[in-house]
Amino acid sequence: MKPTVLIIGGGVSGSVCALSLRRQGIEVDLAEKSIFPLANVCGCCIGGTGLSVLRSLQVDDWVSSEGQRLERWVGSMGGYRVEVPLDSGVAISRERLDTELLLRVKQAGANVMVPVSAAVQSLDRDHVSVLLEDSSGENQIKQYDLVIVASGLNATGANRLLPWKEPPHGPFGISFYGSTSHLSTGSLGMACDRDGYVGVVRLEDGRVDIAAALKSGSDSRQVGKPVDRVLGILERSRLELGCIEVQSQISVTPPLRRSRLAGKGRLVAIGDASGYVEPFTGEGMTWGMMSGVAVSRLITESSLDELGDLGDRWCRRQKQLLASKRRVCRLLTTALQNSILRYGTGFLLSRMPSLASPLVSHLARPWNPSSPR
Ligand SMILES: Cc1cc2nc3c(=O)[nH]c(=O)nc-3n(C[C@H](O)[C@H](O)[C@H](O)COP(=O)(O)OP(=O)(O)OC[C@H]3O[C@@H](n4cnc5c(N)ncnc54)[C@H](O)[C@@H]3O)c2cc1C
Repeated sequence: MKPTVLIIGGGVSGSVCALSLRRQGIEVDLAEKSIFPLANVCGCCIGGTGLSVLRSLQVDDWVSSEGQRLERWVGSMGGYRVEVPLDSGVAISRERLDTELLLRVKQAGANVMVPVSAAVQSLDRDHVSVLLEDSSGENQIKQYDLVIVASGLNATGANRLLPWKEPPHGPFGISFYGSTSHLSTGSLGMACDRDGYVGVVRLEDGRVDIAAALKSGSDSRQVGKPVDRVLGILERSRLELGCIEVQSQISVTPPLRRSRLAGKGRLVAIGDASGYVEPFTGEGMTWGMMSGVAVSRLITESSLDELGDLGDRWCRRQKQLLASKRRVCRLLTTALQNSILRYGTGFLLSRMPSLASPLVSHLARPWNPSSPR
């Protein structure tokens, strides 16, 4: 007897979790409310750790060959320009990545329901009830042994049963495609400023992805429209990208800092749906993918009788997996908001780029799903 599992959300976290469960012979339903391709606020970079997760599911070949290989990080902080070589990582548009991963999930035999919006109705001792609604408004209530919420930042109905530990606040995300002929292929540009930070990268199809986390609050709003603030940070930076033209719609997120109970009973949350994201180290997708694989292993290691407290066990497992990474990211981001630290970091890294090696190696380190971290 195997459990019945529903995954809510077909972004990177949900798709990787579905693939991992299918590889272990578990039947999976996956509900995705949007028709792909879908633009997502994202810097579109996956480091070596993320690629190793994809490798463990035999989908890294496609990502590595389609993605744009990253060769260097070019930073601008405290008035200094910093160049650090990268040994791994690719840039790939979320439209392509998410569409391809969801296709692989279908090919692996999961029941993918699109466009279907899912909302958890109740959490009982023996099952979770979920309302599934398609685009014509037809709906049905279904019961599952387990529900995995992977519905990203805008997950209102999907995981209302998992309480906030820290409600959304702090910086918000914004992204769009822009034009600049001054960004060399293989470079990941990042400008840090008093108003936030902006990542700029050329994607596999030549488009330039511009993604930023901007300070929120009324003082910041007075600085101007979000898109102008992003362009302002780039203009003031040492990236020297020239005049940038906005070439797409602009997407924004709600405030990024947040944390939720990651699981309860038969309900589990992974990826952005489980809480705090800070895009500075560009690891959000990697953490979501790692969580997807780790939760699938927790499921297959448990007998049917043990599934009733899977969510509670997931809370502990996720803490072991991500707490220290999230802390480092939060510390880095907070430090870079301070002008003296920005100046000091920029000064030191511009003279000794090798000081960034520990962080670069950390982002490239392959992940072993059998180890707790
Ligand atoms: C400015 C910025 C830059 C970033 N840069 C990077 C980067 O360079 N590299 C990186 O790794 N990460 C980056 N991130 C983080 C990354 O974008 C997220 O961590 C990642 O998208 C999380 O994936 P997810 O699958 O959890 O959620 P999502 O990708 O948001 O997927 C959630 C899916 O669930 C669906 N959904 C939502 N509600 C429902 C529902 N009720 N029913 C059914 N489906 C539903 C949505 O349609 C969506 O497809 C960045 C974030 C920001 C804000």
